[in-house]
Amino acid sequence: MTPLRALGGTSDILPEEARAWQQLEEKARRVFHLYGYQEIRTPLIEEAALFTRSLGEAAEIVTKQIYLFEDRGGRSVALRPEGTASVVRAFIEHGMDKTASLSRFYYLGPMFRAERPQAGRKRQFHQVGVEALGSASPYQDVEVLALLVQILKEFGLKMGSPGEPGVILKLNNLGCRNDRPVMLKKLADYFAGHLNDLCEDCRQRFKVNPLRILDCKNEKCRSIAHGSIPPESEWLCADCRAHVDTVKKALAALKINFEWDPRLVRGLDYYSRTAFEIVHPEWGAQNAVGGGGRYDDLVAMLGGNPTPAVGFAIGLERILLALGEREEKPQGPKVFIATVTAADIPDGMALAETARRKGISVVPNLEDRPLKRQMEQAEKLGCSATVIRGESERAKGVVLLKKMASREQIEISEGTWVETLQKFLSE
Ligand code: AMP
Repeated sequence: MTPLRALGGTSDILPEEARAWQQLEEKARRVFHLYGYQEIRTPLIEEAALFTRSLGEAAEIVTKQIYLFEDRGGRSVALRPEGTASVVRAFIEHGMDKTASLSRFYYLGPMFRAERPQAGRKRQFHQVGVEALGSASPYQDVEVLALLVQILKEFGLKMGSPGEPGVILKLNNLGCRNDRPVMLKKLADYFAGHLNDLCEDCRQRFKVNPLRILDCKNEKCRSIAHGSIPPESEWLCADCRAHVDTVKKALAALKINFEWDPRLVRGLDYYSRTAFEIVHPEWGAQNAVGGGGRYDDLVAMLGGNPTPAVGFAIGLERILLALGEREEKPQGPKVFIATVTAADIPDGMALAETARRKGISVVPNLEDRPLKRQMEQAEKLGCSATVIRGESERAKGVVLLKKMASREQIEISEGTWVETLQKFLSE
């Protein structure tokens, strides 16, 4: 029989890689905690309508990438392609839109998109992200951006500035729902004159949402799009301009470098005002490490009390790619418990339980095999010590402690063996 394999675009994370993942997750949690953000965990599957309603019909995620299926009850469900829609659904479902307080959430976990797999582009990938719901203040955008930059630094990435290597924060102002129709009309007028030169997808985008054309990776479409953005004075309202000006000034005060990019529109429809992306300048088309922005209309669009909000998501596969190969030895047990005969195994297991209660990572022998083989296994596991016990040690009320590096072997009383072991391991 042909052995089964993981689905294309999904990966097993084996123990030698898992340490790097755990470290990223630990670092992320630490920074989230420092900024007062709390974890929220939402289901991996949701009603499909949640995503089709919130992400926008013309968004590539919805048209091409969403994992959509009918469950056994005939309901249309989807694997979550991103985190924001689910967090907003939970926010409304649990009545948090009815309180005046600010909610600061973070999440961490797998997302699913049916994409053509390649380096840094998976079908199951992992994001960490935050959502701050309840504040319209431009300083909330700045807090989220400061947190984003801090987390990237904590991960070990260098934030670049013009002329210096490192990842770059790109920023744009998308305007509000009042500005959008003016902007769309101007874009539509512009692209109407170039329709024949646009790719097939963009001609479709032109009909549904011309803003999406700015997202196209096709070189020709990109060069056409270059001249499409009308000057801010022709479509952006005074409030939106003031909002993003305040964001820019506060970023300068916090010494956070950014690059202004009027073509940055993000792949989803729900963003307004501040939109941003972290890009790796050497990565070509798939250059985004993370991104986010303000989404003041989404809570109301999904049926909640109007609540302004802002957030971001970072792709962990891309972070690991940016950091380069960093395989680390998985952390194995510190101590092996060896036993002399098969009849001693339960006693060895009991010793292991005693040590674990004191916080020591222990693996006991479980097989009927000679002591020599057991010592070989202790070496292989990278243990610092082996505790040996058989009938004669039990009769004397002792255990033998073998220090693996020096090969020294000492006899210790069974009343104090765990303390002695702890002392040795901390040396
Ligand atoms: P997006 O919601 O598309 O802006 O995605 C946010 C971040 O998630 C991106 O900047 C990437 O780092 C990451 N990401 C998105 N799609 C994928 C994917 N298919 N595979 C790996 N990472 C992804």
